Amino acid sequence: MKKLYRGKILNPISASECEFFADGGILVDENGRIESYGKFEKLNKGEDIEVQDFSEDLIIPAFSDVHTHLPQYDVRGKFSGNDLLPWLRNYIWPEEIKFASSDYAKKVARRFFDDLIQHGTLTAGIFGTIHVNAAREMFNECNIRAIIGKAMMDQNSPAELTENTQDSLEGVDDLCEEFGQKHAITPRFAMTCSNELMCGGAALANKYGAIIQTHLSENYEVIDMTSKLFPNAENYTDIYLKAGLLGPKTIVAHAIHCSDEEFDVLKKTGTKIAHCPTSNIALNSGRMPVEKVFNKGIEFALATDVGAGPKTSMLDVMRGFLEAHAGIDACEYVVNEVSALYYATLAGAKILGFGAETGNFKEGKSADFLVLKTNFKSAKPKEIIHNLCYDIDYSSVVQKTVFRGEVIYEG
Ligand SMILES: [Zn+2]
Repeated sequence: MKKLYRGKILNPISASECEFFADGGILVDENGRIESYGKFEKLNKGEDIEVQDFSEDLIIPAFSDVHTHLPQYDVRGKFSGNDLLPWLRNYIWPEEIKFASSDYAKKVARRFFDDLIQHGTLTAGIFGTIHVNAAREMFNECNIRAIIGKAMMDQNSPAELTENTQDSLEGVDDLCEEFGQKHAITPRFAMTCSNELMCGGAALANKYGAIIQTHLSENYEVIDMTSKLFPNAENYTDIYLKAGLLGPKTIVAHAIHCSDEEFDVLKKTGTKIAHCPTSNIALNSGRMPVEKVFNKGIEFALATDVGAGPKTSMLDVMRGFLEAHAGIDACEYVVNEVSALYYATLAGAKILGFGAETGNFKEGKSADFLVLKTNFKSAKPKEIIHNLCYDIDYSSVVQKTVFRGEVIYEG
């Protein structure tokens, strides 16, 4: 039987447009797809329809988190005042070493995905550790729409997290064979990757048509060290360009301190950016010039970057997005409540290659959405989204998470 979900509906269309239906409905067919959506009274016709009435509640598309680290789940937010490198040394490497145990990886993965579903994230780009078996456990536990990548690291890392270059490439090759395009090529960042490893990664991405995910220009200290490691490169971005890692299926996280020339290369190659405002604030990394990225026409979407980002909730990232760029005149038309919802949903789904399947409400798309318990009275998307970011408890607002038309979580 078809199901008609009734509620107040927000539907992000673009960075500047969001539909709102005060008494709306999402009609879901027997296959979990959206047959139609809009005003409730227009949809409530026909006999084989079961109405699910949430007319007092808000219904929005599920979130996309385009850059997060599953292995850092248990150490998220457990730091203060550390910049990137000491934070990696003190908190992250010791935790990632534990993922040599598949059993440990499995247990963390289970809790991680439960948490994402509770917070309404159903699409994600996920980093693993260097461990092939840990990546397998992550895939086995994954019950959302995600790409997952075994991290590649063959230099400047602790001994337990330093791979032999060839072994690393073979491990990635095996995972691509096994999981197809769901496995992302994941050279962690230039500092921890030899040129040979990055070039090998690019070749594997070509072979399998895989997404590539990495970090770029996050922190001045790292930029400095990286330029010494790769003296033949013009700049940080050029290292990846020369290795063949940039292109329309590549997602670089951060891109905070890129020069105009570097942004031009990202644009020209079609490379996408994962913008992680809460992480950037937590690690004192700086502000990504979102106005520049927007004006150059580089595609970006929001991400938690757990565990530097302290929370798994994309509502927290939307709040961080509004705050990180507040008071900067050039940002006013790029950064606002309506764009925040778009960058936390449809923009992310597009970047991860799932834009035709999910990310907002459209006939034929998968019914992936959230019923949120709120008591907001406004009929203006901007005000409702503002309330979502500031006036609710992120951990209890999700009343139902619906994935492919099935309720998979009830709060
Ligand atoms: Zn990251």
